[in-house]
Amino acid sequence: MTIAVFGSINIDITAYSERLPRPGETLHGTRYLTGLGGKGANQAAASAKLGAPTHLIGRVGDDHFARSALHALESFAVDISYVHRDSSNGTGIAIINVDARGENFITVIAGANFAVDDSDVERARAGLAAASVLLLQLEVPQAPMMSAAGYAGQAGAKVVLDPAPVPPNARDMDLSLIDIITPNEVETEHLTGIRPHDIATAGEAARHLHARGPKSVILKLGEWGAFLSTGEEARMIEAFKVAAVDTVAAGDCFNGGLAYALSQGMDLGESARFACACGALSTTRYGAAAAAPGLAEVKDLLARG
Ligand code: ADP
Repeated sequence: MTIAVFGSINIDITAYSERLPRPGETLHGTRYLTGLGGKGANQAAASAKLGAPTHLIGRVGDDHFARSALHALESFAVDISYVHRDSSNGTGIAIINVDARGENFITVIAGANFAVDDSDVERARAGLAAASVLLLQLEVPQAPMMSAAGYAGQAGAKVVLDPAPVPPNARDMDLSLIDIITPNEVETEHLTGIRPHDIATAGEAARHLHARGPKSVILKLGEWGAFLSTGEEARMIEAFKVAAVDTVAAGDCFNGGLAYALSQGMDLGESARFACACGALSTTRYGAAAAAPGLAEVKDLLARG
């Protein structure tokens, strides 16, 4: 069963320096990395690396960064036939400065990602109709994202929304087409007004979200793990104990893993545990899409944990 991801594609350019530059200052850094980023690309790479046939639907420009992004996606076995090359906009980039303590500044130029519209949904109809799971995030405009949700949902896909980055309209965003919503702690607070810091507050936040549409709520709670609520059942899924070095894209690897597990027919509880293992493993490596684990190591961690 295939997975469709409707979302953003970026190239991340990360510069490392002892400290962050001050306004007007030029600083010599120690090293830099370039890599695939954007929540859509990261989640697609995560599910494809596990072995699920995965279509990414989105846009890049017609520039050097587009070639790098498409090449990286193909290297992770992501199907890019629905990635449109937009000659009027540049490929999305994120310029990231990181200091020795891991503190960072990030500037994102969304470029082609913000030009995604209903024509991208139309072009990808066959892929959306064939998908058993559709993964969404909020780095492309909400209107075409909702069209994709409506279309795939009607065709029978489970629609999963990662409400990140959290939008200004979080409190009254339409969630009626979403089957499973997966906010982290901060996003949960923006969406519901409740910061989940224990089982009671997590349950209360989940009830708010259920009332807006999603039948299932999974709160991603970092090293605490995840809180799963189906309306009838609510429980914590403990995090796997790992030596974390970089938590960038842990949430994206979680969602890619969740989609993989659901597409394999695992139930929601098993799928959430599988996703926790993917999120945990991604924190043991640097980078975004590149940090996503393969199936063998996830199975290994599940067996040990
Ligand atoms: P986001 O990246 O969206 O902020 P989280 O930080 O909550 O999301 O991470 C997503 C998931 O990855 C968590 O629910 C958890 O299962 C796993 N995870 C994250 N950080 C750790 C960690 N330090 N140790 C183990 N698992 C982790």
